[in-house]
Amino acid sequence: MVLADLGKSINQALSSVTRATGDVDEDTLDAMLNEISMALLKHDVGLAQVAKLKTNIKKKVNIKETLPQNRKRVIQKAVFDELCALVDTQQEVWKPKKGRSNVIMLVGLQGAGKTTTCTKLAVYFQRRGFKTGLVCADTFRAGAFDQLKQNATRAKVPFFGSYTEPDPVVIAKQGVDKFKKDMFDLIIVDTSGRHRQEQDLFDEMVQIGDAVKPDHTLMVLDASIGQAAQLQASAFKEAADFGSIVLTKMDGHAKGGGAISAVAATQTPIAFIGTGEHIHDFETFSPQQFISKLLGIGDIQGLMEHVQTLKLDQKDTIKNLQAGIFTLRDLRTQMENVMKLGPLSKVASMIPGMAQFADQLGGEDSNRRLKAMVYIMDSMTKKELDSDGQIFRDQPTRVVRVAKGSGTAVREVEEVLAQQKMMAGMAKKMGGKDGLMSRMKAMQ
Ligand code: GDP
Repeated sequence: MVLADLGKSINQALSSVTRATGDVDEDTLDAMLNEISMALLKHDVGLAQVAKLKTNIKKKVNIKETLPQNRKRVIQKAVFDELCALVDTQQEVWKPKKGRSNVIMLVGLQGAGKTTTCTKLAVYFQRRGFKTGLVCADTFRAGAFDQLKQNATRAKVPFFGSYTEPDPVVIAKQGVDKFKKDMFDLIIVDTSGRHRQEQDLFDEMVQIGDAVKPDHTLMVLDASIGQAAQLQASAFKEAADFGSIVLTKMDGHAKGGGAISAVAATQTPIAFIGTGEHIHDFETFSPQQFISKLLGIGDIQGLMEHVQTLKLDQKDTIKNLQAGIFTLRDLRTQMENVMKLGPLSKVASMIPGMAQFADQLGGEDSNRRLKAMVYIMDSMTKKELDSDGQIFRDQPTRVVRVAKGSGTAVREVEEVLAQQKMMAGMAKKMGGKDGLMSRMKAMQ
């Protein structure tokens, strides 16, 4: 995550207090606050916000009036709360209402990730039962419509745009009217991010806004641009008065503190964060969850929400397990479920205590191996997939055929078979009338 280093530095500063032998005094607190301030400044958080955080923590802790045995706990809590306050505007984030057409307009500079975010948003709300459509009103950038069209088609989201109409205001209006007529719940309008003159860009945004009357305007802000984020957000706020922010590229390696300052400067809540180029690399933003993750405390709530929206397919496998069976098809279903979860690094960062291992997990190599396993199983016949794998041991030529068909090595196919055999062994022990699953059920 973009702010992982910042999290490490703050943790280090905090542990200098929590590990201190003897009583924590004013000097220890000051030293810790200086360390935290340096870390925040280094990550582009604005000077004013850092100064405020420091003063607030000192005020909250009040060393002289806090019993020595309580000081460490009080300091930890004050630091956590003030870090949350940095990104918390105390305002509720807008939500579309069911039973009517909601229009969202996305604004932001070219390259910020607007078009990508449009599709991510559409998929996010589609999964939550909103009939969603996308409108491409970016006529300035050649290929913008193609990009939206491609993303939307892949994500199975209806879209509207034009290769011939040069006026973005006309397209936006036509698209929104069409989707409204077709009773769409949510209509997302992508606008242009570049013009020869900045003023032209802002004028166009206002004109589109007047034409489609959005219920909500979202600003898409690239988190990796550092201090420039604050200026950019302020300029857009004046022109388009957006209601919330989407911070993109939070997965990159650049500093992200500038974006935090932008939030503070415009007093606008962050609604979502983008954590990668993939459609599902998109999360709702909550200050507490964000800071918990930053400090490596985990984000179980986020993980639960993530898993619930994936609609993982477990039914048949559970039925099979109860019967003491685990077929190759079961292995394939479970592999798909794992892949739906996203990179392991992301899952790990949401589990308390696992955050420090996140960097080591889910790299290119493990993703490639997961995909190879699915290709292997896709090259099997129906009969093979529904088998317990013995068919391959009886006829080894099948292994060679599957390896060829899936473009993998024989060794990789054998590994998949070994994995399934191991799971089948476990299923045998767990399933059946006298198995572990039945006994556990009986105990409930
Ligand atoms: P637009 O010009 O504002 O519409 O920006 P695009 O949607 O075309 O995005 C610009 C580039 O940023 C593309 O290469 C995207 O794949 C990439 N991008 C967008 N969001 C994210 C994100 O959250 N993380 C990363 N790593 N890349 C992103």
